[in-house]
Amino acid sequence: MPAIVSGSRVHSPSTAAEALAFLAEHAGEGWRPLAGGTDVMMGLYRDRRGGERWLNIARLRPEWGRIAWEGDELRIGALATMADLRESAAARAAHPLICEAASAVGAAQIQNRATVGGNIANGSPAGDTLPVWLAVDAEIELTSTRGARRVAFERFMTGYRQSVIAADELLTSVVIPRPLSGEHWYLFRKVAPRAAQGISKVVVAATGSIEARGSLREDESPATGVWRGVRLAWGSMGPVTKRAYAAERSAEGRKLALELGIEAAAMLETDLRPIDDARSTAAYRMAVARNLTREFLSGNLGRWWRV
Ligand SMILES: Cc1cc2nc3c(=O)[nH]c(=O)nc-3n(C[C@H](O)[C@H](O)[C@H](O)COP(=O)(O)OP(=O)(O)OC[C@H]3O[C@@H](n4cnc5c(N)ncnc54)[C@H](O)[C@@H]3O)c2cc1C
Repeated sequence: MPAIVSGSRVHSPSTAAEALAFLAEHAGEGWRPLAGGTDVMMGLYRDRRGGERWLNIARLRPEWGRIAWEGDELRIGALATMADLRESAAARAAHPLICEAASAVGAAQIQNRATVGGNIANGSPAGDTLPVWLAVDAEIELTSTRGARRVAFERFMTGYRQSVIAADELLTSVVIPRPLSGEHWYLFRKVAPRAAQGISKVVVAATGSIEARGSLREDESPATGVWRGVRLAWGSMGPVTKRAYAAERSAEGRKLALELGIEAAAMLETDLRPIDDARSTAAYRMAVARNLTREFLSGNLGRWWRV
């Protein structure tokens, strides 16, 4: 540990059960989880704090780092890293958005350490995987010695960097439902000052099913169909990751077309309230979001996949 954090205390349990028992026994004493440490260490260096208490869960990866199907759900362990997600065939099958977002976090060194649980629990409105969990209807599993509970990602964040995690709980999994069979369109786009190691000014995870008329050839784009179940999930467009419900609703049952894209883009302000801050302005953010919405719903931007 560097000198600036020499006053910190670190406890490193060797099993998941031990970690939960420790948290239960010491709840209220300020112990905080330490996973990949990529956000925690930045905080320690920037704020030059010491004297904190860290529950080091990094070595519990064998128990809490697996990515695997369980029936009709994909369970992503909280200690899976962005590199694990990026390379996971199971995650790609659940939704390609997951792998695209993981590939956009930092650069290779960060992806090797940064965990899924850390990205979510850190609660930054600019966290790049967060819009994806919203777009794919993920549930977050929280575990303590009292048992495990699931919370829809949509209800997980309660405000700026605030969530429903209790002091004796750890975020242990992200659970994704198996996608419905059919044609789907999706877009992950991070708009940042540069391609790697940039913090998002705007980040979007968008997806929707396409109901095509008749059966399509293997190589045929489904862009001639109509939208069903569109999700437009945004990061850095408010204090928490948010969906643009009004724009989503406007697309239901309509063809992928420029007219729809323009109409939906004009509705973003119903749900999104970006701010001016050190990284960007509210006006720039809204202009970018409108352009991405227009092009996605027109079928001009994004990719399609078949299940
Ligand atoms: C150079 C650099 C570039 C970066 N680039 C990006 C980027 O492009 N996009 C992006 O989104 N992020 C980026 N980050 C931020 C960071 O890498 C991610 O947020 C990462 O996923 C955090 O995971 P971690 O395991 O390192 O978390 P940690 O730093 O260990 O923890 C982060 C927070 O989450 C809490 N926590 C961790 N695990 C759990 C758990 N299982 N249960 C409950 N609480 C938990 C910790 O107590 C802490 O408050 C970058 C960071 C650096 C240093």
